[in-house]
Parts: sequence; structure tokens; C-alpha cells
Amino acid sequence: MNAKRVMPLKSDGYRKAIGDLLKKFRVKGLRMTPQRMVIFETLLAATDHPSCEDLLSRLRPEMPSLSLDTVYRTVGTLERAGVLRKVATSEGAHRFDANLAPHHHFVCDACQRIWDFTWESFDKLPTPELLRDGRDIFVRQAELKGICPECLKSTRPVRTPTGN
Ligand SMILES: [Zn+2]
Ligand SMILES: [Zn+2]
Repeated sequence: MNAKRVMPLKSDGYRKAIGDLLKKFRVKGLRMTPQRMVIFETLLAATDHPSCEDLLSRLRPEMPSLSLDTVYRTVGTLERAGVLRKVATSEGAHRFDANLAPHHHFVCDACQRIWDFTWESFDKLPTPELLRDGRDIFVRQAELKGICPECLKSTRPVRTPTGN
């Protein structure tokens, strides 16, 4: 037996997502670039479903030449590859989710952050009668809106329009 390998710092979920990303790029004949990888990794690490503007402000410190246009194009490529989802929000700006496992969303109406959560009893609910007419339903996702604990504590929104 070889010496035990050093445990990777990144989680199983992370490695699986990167493996999935590379496979989907290969299948679609898309080229992987460091920029595409960094943007995907940033989305993967984010827990708030960032917009393109959020991604730009997070990456600018390490990639000063990155433009909003490039972020938009890269996110579009990642979406075409099927490794992230667009999240519909009432504020209109597109938000992105690299968590492809079935889950639901809580949206804070003040800071507009979006949290993922699982909801087993919801998932088990039968489809409403009205929709049982031969429709093909492939996403069952709930969106709950409210105010997050942080915003409830403060009187002004936590989020600022552009980054730090
Ligand atoms: Zn909030
Ligand atoms: Zn999500």
C-alpha cells in the first residue's frame, strides 16, 4: 500500500461539482479557462446566490482586469453547460445558483440574500389536483420570502449595491 494521501482540503461535494463541470464542458465542446473556473468556484462557494455584479465585486481584488461583460458572458457559458441555474427574483436582477441538488429558497426582502434549504415534508406533498392533467412537472421548488434575522436586528439593509 502507498502512503496515505493527504486529505484534500476541499469537500466531496466540491470535488464532485468540479468533476461535473469539467465533464459537461467536455461533452459540449466548451473550453475551460482559468477565468471560467474561478467564476464557477466563486459561485460554488457563495451561499447567497450572487448576481453578476456581486461576482464582479468579489473577484475584482484578485482579477483587476475583469469586466462585468466578461462575467455576464462567462455565467452564460456556465449556464449553457448546465452547471448553474438562474434564480428568478422579484427584484429583477438575475441571480445564480451552482447548487444543482433539489432544494428550496428563502429570500430576504430587505437584503435580497437567498438561502438554500431542504424541506422533506414539502417534497412529499402530492401534486395539486388542478395540475394533474398530464402536465410534465420537473421542478418542485418553493420560495419563501421574509426578513432574515440580521435584517430584523438592523434598521437599514445589510447589502450595499456594489461590493466593499
Ligand atoms: Zn436580510
Ligand atoms: Zn439555491
